[in-house]
Amino acid sequence: MSKQALIQTSALNRYYGKYHAVNDFNLTLHKGEVLGLLGPNGAGKSTTMQMLTGNIFPSSGTIQINGVDLLDNPKQAKKSIGYLPEQPPIYRDMTASEFLKYCAALHDIPKDKRQSAIDIAIERCGLGDVANKLIANLSKGYQQRVGIAQAILHQPQVVILDEPTVGLDPIQITEIRELIRELGKDHSVILSTHILPEVQAVCDRVQIIKEGSTVFSDTFEQLEQRQSAPVLLVGFESVVDENELSTLAGVKSVQLLGEARYQLNYEESPIASDVFQLSVAKGWKLNELNQQTESLEQIFMNLIHNESVASENTVEEVVKEQVAKNG
Ligand code: ATP
Repeated sequence: MSKQALIQTSALNRYYGKYHAVNDFNLTLHKGEVLGLLGPNGAGKSTTMQMLTGNIFPSSGTIQINGVDLLDNPKQAKKSIGYLPEQPPIYRDMTASEFLKYCAALHDIPKDKRQSAIDIAIERCGLGDVANKLIANLSKGYQQRVGIAQAILHQPQVVILDEPTVGLDPIQITEIRELIRELGKDHSVILSTHILPEVQAVCDRVQIIKEGSTVFSDTFEQLEQRQSAPVLLVGFESVVDENELSTLAGVKSVQLLGEARYQLNYEESPIASDVFQLSVAKGWKLNELNQQTESLEQIFMNLIHNESVASENTVEEVVKEQVAKNG
């Protein structure tokens, strides 16, 4: 059975004058999913989120929220959405509970249900001890919690958070990420950020956006598969027969790096255990076996800048990996 789509867009475009900020962009958010919208500054994340929440119109394209067309029926569609913009819409001269009371009315929550909705949001966002303090006197982390509380007050199916950890200290960042993970149990969430570890820490899936277009959309496992140039660096006590190395399964080419060191270029994933076995069979003394891999951060940077920087796994890591793979 296919998963229910709570948000489904098709070919969204947004121009600011002649500037094409969002370009044929598609996004699907499934029920029960936490999706990370990841991209550098200016990639078009906020513009996309403002379109998804009905705060600005797309220049073209459609947006369905929980089966309702946002452009045809905005009031109905917006009932399914809670939104924390990049600049939290909080009134500093109200207490947290006064502000949430005001938001409950804006969200059209029936009068007799408002207090219980506020109590639940205060509890879920850990605001109990500060509910009666002026928002202006709260730390930035707690102000952000108030912003999240107003986004979940009406129990929307979808919560959209635009850069919710920007400007927070490391402890506050950890706490807000934990809160977002908790929200993900009851709501589907879209989180925008330019920080890869944030998406890793919180999200089930990542959609990477560059210059208004999607360059990747899938799980982290799939992102890791995007490694370019799978390479093994091998070193021996003395020079060995390169032709023997080039006959190993999957090896595309062999380069001599000097000092009995070779680079084996593979089509796909290198098989380090084959090199090990060949060395044993030939009586070659192997003293280096490094698998070059790219970190997720590097893969992300490649997608954004088309740059490639490889890091190396140690021989111990490669052997451990092979042992784990081969049982
Ligand atoms: P950031 O993290 O810096 O907010 P972002 O990925 O959210 O970046 P957007 O804020 O959506 O990106 O901006 C996308 C592009 O559109 C940027 O080049 C930005 O300068 C431009 N832009 C955004 N809003 C406007 C506007 N109101 N008028 C003109 N250009 C705009």
